[in-house]
Amino acid sequence: MNILAQCCGIVLLLVILYFYSNQKKVQLHTGQAFMGMWIATFVSLLLDTNSMVLLTYRDNLPDLVVRFGCKAYVSSLVWQAIFCLIYVCSDIYEKDEMYSKYKKCLYVCGSFFMLLVFALPIYIHAESATDTYTYGPAVILTYILAATTLILLTILLRKNKDKMNPNRRRAVRVWMGVWLLAAVIQFLNNALLLVGYASAVGVTIIYLKLENPEANLDRKTGLFNQTAFLLYMKQLLNQEEDYYLLGMSYSLGKGENLSSDAEEAIYMEFIQFISEIPGATVFRCEDDMIVFAFLDAGEMDSGYHILMERFEKPWGKSLVRMMIPHWYYVSNPRIVREEKDYLKLFQYAEQFNRDFVRIDEDMVKSLNSEQAIEQMIVEAMREDRVEVYYQPIYSTYRNQFASAEALVRIRDKEGNIIMPGCFIEVAERTGLIMRLGEIVFEKVCHFIKEEKPEQYGIEYIEVNLSIIQCGYEYLAASYKRIMREYEVSPKAINLEITETASLSEKRILLENMRELREYGVTFSLDDFGTGQSNLNYIVDMPVDIVKFDRDMIQSYFANDKAKYVMDAAMHMIHGLNLKIVSEGVETQEQYATMEELGISYIQGYYFSRPLPQEEFLAFIRDRRGGIVPVS
Ligand code: C2E
Ligand code: MG
Ligand code: MG
Repeated sequence: MNILAQCCGIVLLLVILYFYSNQKKVQLHTGQAFMGMWIATFVSLLLDTNSMVLLTYRDNLPDLVVRFGCKAYVSSLVWQAIFCLIYVCSDIYEKDEMYSKYKKCLYVCGSFFMLLVFALPIYIHAESATDTYTYGPAVILTYILAATTLILLTILLRKNKDKMNPNRRRAVRVWMGVWLLAAVIQFLNNALLLVGYASAVGVTIIYLKLENPEANLDRKTGLFNQTAFLLYMKQLLNQEEDYYLLGMSYSLGKGENLSSDAEEAIYMEFIQFISEIPGATVFRCEDDMIVFAFLDAGEMDSGYHILMERFEKPWGKSLVRMMIPHWYYVSNPRIVREEKDYLKLFQYAEQFNRDFVRIDEDMVKSLNSEQAIEQMIVEAMREDRVEVYYQPIYSTYRNQFASAEALVRIRDKEGNIIMPGCFIEVAERTGLIMRLGEIVFEKVCHFIKEEKPEQYGIEYIEVNLSIIQCGYEYLAASYKRIMREYEVSPKAINLEITETASLSEKRILLENMRELREYGVTFSLDDFGTGQSNLNYIVDMPVDIVKFDRDMIQSYFANDKAKYVMDAAMHMIHGLNLKIVSEGVETQEQYATMEELGISYIQGYYFSRPLPQEEFLAFIRDRRGGIVPVS
């Protein structure tokens, strides 16, 4: 009796079942369909073995029993084919109703062909103990069905290639290849009964490549990972039932410094606790964002309260630490278009840095508009639609324009100018500011190299640096490289920085400033006099110029208190031997007062708005001899 291959197949399937059933799984359609496939293959292998036993002892058994056993095996092949198709459909047809429709249709086909197998005759070939097999119309029908299944699978994969992840498509193809090879070998040599074993190998391939629950688990915590989150959300979004999502990030409370072992123990205690919230499927997505998914509103309510209560107490045994949670409640889970939007929304909500954020339609709208701006910046950078305008800065000592501020603009596809106020914040949040800042700096250097504005008295160009750029370790190296590339003297550049509250950013900023100052670049402190500025900041910042913000200048004329504050600030700044630029000077009166106060540089609409490069050149060329402005 030749049942070695069948036995190997059975062992292989049992090993897979052992691992599969002992692993934590997220409830997915494909997981259920995989179990269906496993059962069909396992039953088929058992029936295959059974038919071999019946054939071997057929002389001592009633003919009806032997034939029934053989037909049962042959009809099990029909079900194997049906479950293969169901598995692939479970992956492709996301909408619940579509999937159920196809599943029902396949069940009907399976039952019909099974009856047909039982109705058609089957013959037994028995030359020797190793050369025993069945043939005849019932067997030919299964061959036809197998070929049809393979053709259907190929069509399904090809037609739905955009819906199926390439990895999954590849795994299904390999599985089909193994099965086809075994069928051809068995067809050519009927004594080599490989098809059953090949089906078990097929199930193994699907398990290892697609259905291994391990791939859905986060290695560090054992919670479900982001891949599992996206798969599960895709499924929930496509089904009718309601579900409830609660995102969570946390910050650590201040306290004594704990060893990394103690921190780790606290973290694992926290993970253990959140993984046991009743009714919740818990995911750990990137950047440590925890997401709780509930299928029941009551469970979500009680889960939230259990969590809230626990967070009021410290974590850890002898060495303790408070954890401060931030909650992101998705008020209506169907506000998104696709599953990955949830992650974007959580990230977006996180930046508000609040204890509780309600993610609703308005937030989706503002995220969408932010994404549209992001897209606009990316396209403008790609299509070279980033422009630099220059606003002249007047020196009250030299009585002429001595510098200019470079200000970025984006030209949209229709040719309109978009102001930085519309996109700088988004560029900062998305990190696009790094490249945008470099593009502006390259354009400024190109301008200095080509047009030599120093011949018209412009000693240097002031270029804005974003806080985000300042916190980048290689900023100095990159800006030095650009200056070298355009052969621009560092004396022709002044970089404008703004205050930063974060200490770690400040350390990197100071390091960047040190390196660039050593190279010869000077710095200005921009927007002095706005909400954040503080006099101490100037004392320990190695800047050469302080720029008074427009608001400060405007309020100087509007109220006495502001006048005193500005006088004191000016006194101190001059005492530190720093120069002052007054921004936002719009009238003759404002100009005269600033000059009287001894302010070295004046910038504002009084002289000129920021101008496109050519207009700026014409402006300074016409006024190179120096002017005394009149209104
Ligand atoms: P900022 O650096 O303080 O630039 C001065 C802003 O005040 C400019 O606005 C300028 O047009 C405006 N301004 C100048 N004089 C007057 C005046 O007399 N009256 C009024 N009402 N406004 C005046 P703009 O060009 O819209 O830039 C706004 C901000 O965008 C800048 O403020 C700066 O923070 C940022 N920004 C502009 N270009 C860049 C850039 O290349 N990189 C970075 N990181 N930020 C930039
Ligand atoms: Mg500025
Ligand atoms: Mg400013």
